[in-house]
Amino acid sequence: MNLNSFVGNSQVKKFLSDAKDGGRFPHAVIFQGEAGTGKKTLAKLVANALVCRDANAPCGECPACKRARAGSHPDIRIEEGSGATRSLNVEAAKRIILDSHRMPEEADYNIYLLFVENKMPEVTQNKLLKLIEEPPGNTVFIITVPSAESLLPTIRSRSQIFSLRPVAVNEAADYGRMIGMESAEAERLAALCGGNIGRMLQERGEGEEAYATAAAERIALASAERNTERLLEETAPLIKNRQLTGEVLERLGLILRDGAVLKAGGSELLSPGGEAAEELTKRSAGDLLKLLDAVTEHRKKLERNANMPLLITSLCAALA
Ligand SMILES: [Zn+2]
Repeated sequence: MNLNSFVGNSQVKKFLSDAKDGGRFPHAVIFQGEAGTGKKTLAKLVANALVCRDANAPCGECPACKRARAGSHPDIRIEEGSGATRSLNVEAAKRIILDSHRMPEEADYNIYLLFVENKMPEVTQNKLLKLIEEPPGNTVFIITVPSAESLLPTIRSRSQIFSLRPVAVNEAADYGRMIGMESAEAERLAALCGGNIGRMLQERGEGEEAYATAAAERIALASAERNTERLLEETAPLIKNRQLTGEVLERLGLILRDGAVLKAGGSELLSPGGEAAEELTKRSAGDLLKLLDAVTEHRKKLERNANMPLLITSLCAALA
């Protein structure tokens, strides 16, 4: 079993790999750790590795791996709880108990992933206890929880408990670069979040939203000026980032729509700010409608996986 695609926590990965390769994978595993340390990610990766029959599992290529990644493998069950507290109710425990009596359909194991956000109600734990104490031979439980202390001692004592920790800042930065962050940004976020990769991704998401809004405004201003050079400059960073381009185009569409509304004497604006929409009224009403159409058309092209450099060049031409 090869868990190297999960960053850091090398001792945990080594223990689990050795256990699997030695044919003594534990029946119940608990991953505990603060939010953002990858408990669910590792649980899913381990489940995937358990259903893949490649020596270097998960191979990522076989039908079992593809199904596991798509969340549709018949022998991997996920219980995430329900309601505002994402609490695992006793119904979830009953479902698991019923299900555990069937033989695995494809893999060697029935794998149950229990994602506990806060605390598992005691009634649910009691229901599961017997199953965890005397599981059918081919059953594996993987429970993720902020702190194993919140589980009954009887469940803890039947489980192998692993603590996941934030990774080294340089490892987190490497990971950031690997998923396409700019180098300096990856280093800044890795340090800011103390190697907590989940938090880094969250910060990045929030950062990207603000970036997309600001970029859409700058592009709208350049379009208002019909300034081709600035349009090329402002859109250049988009070529490398398809998702960001989609977000910028969405916001740009709103600003253009607002420009058309202002031009027609209306005042109900949808985009934040409004300065860019104001500037756009320098252009004719006909122009604004054409620009809006062009943005819609480029969004569709983006969804159809158009070539990015060509898409951005044609967008600039349309906006100028
Ligand atoms: Zn595989």
